[in-house]
Amino acid sequence: MTRTDSPEDILPPGSVALVGAGPGDPDLLTLGAVKVLGAADVVVYDALVSDAVLDHLTPDCERIFVGKRGGHPSVHQTEISEKLITLAKAGRRVARLKGGDPFIFGRGGEEACCLAREKIPFRIVPGVTAGIAGPAYAGIPLTHRGINSNVGFFTGHESAETSSLGGEESPFSQDWAAIGRTFPVLVLYMAMKHLPEITQGIMAGGRRADTPVAVIRWATTPDQITLVTTLGRVVADVATHGLKPPAIVVIGEVVGFRDTLRWRQDRDPTRDDPPGRF
Ligand code: SAH
Repeated sequence: MTRTDSPEDILPPGSVALVGAGPGDPDLLTLGAVKVLGAADVVVYDALVSDAVLDHLTPDCERIFVGKRGGHPSVHQTEISEKLITLAKAGRRVARLKGGDPFIFGRGGEEACCLAREKIPFRIVPGVTAGIAGPAYAGIPLTHRGINSNVGFFTGHESAETSSLGGEESPFSQDWAAIGRTFPVLVLYMAMKHLPEITQGIMAGGRRADTPVAVIRWATTPDQITLVTTLGRVVADVATHGLKPPAIVVIGEVVGFRDTLRWRQDRDPTRDDPPGRF
């Protein structure tokens, strides 16, 4: 089978590509993502997709925003899936562009299931997830020989459907005490709202209050802020410095490497030390 890079092959009319946009820096787009974005005639995108990434669309590509911005609620998930189906059935070349990786806490699986049910051809273009790129841009290696041999990725904001306890979105179906004992390094997405319960749970499980923690906001963008603190202090420090989502929280000894490995000019609100070079 030969493979060419014509738009017909990359994204045929009537098909959908679920594309990971990465966390913000367009350098983190894959070659596959750039190809698909160049072939799409309509893109359906979320709030966490940066303008620098959208610059890779062709000028005549139609842009449909389905995220939450400026206090307006986000478009409901079923409406997004229906929109993708309608566009594909109309013969469009559809790119569904999602922040980070589409299958990491991004509901990409749900959208792909809807496309599969409707027998709409689709492809998946993985992206660099914020929980991996953010720590790297902050100078934090998520694994380091001699320190940890595993790392866990968690959401601090489970939906009612996935929470075993039911109810509104809550972090409580995860046993944070057990998780904190099991995983030497934790990477938390969507954790800012429930940070008090999460950190208390982890400490109740035996993790020391002086365990290093980093909160990385707007990771990989020119506005990246990296707050370095501890498990015991993180809630107060986040409040003092007014840190809001979107942020990745990293918990574990590997955070300490930032002192040596900081390479980027990301702002640290608690320190005056010189930033990295780039
Ligand atoms: N699919 C995305 C995650 C979507 S969930 C991915 O793979 O990265 C949304 C959460 O991701 C945010 O609440 C935040 O915790 C995290 N996130 C996404 N982009 C981010 C960024 N640029 N900086 C910090 N956190 C980010």
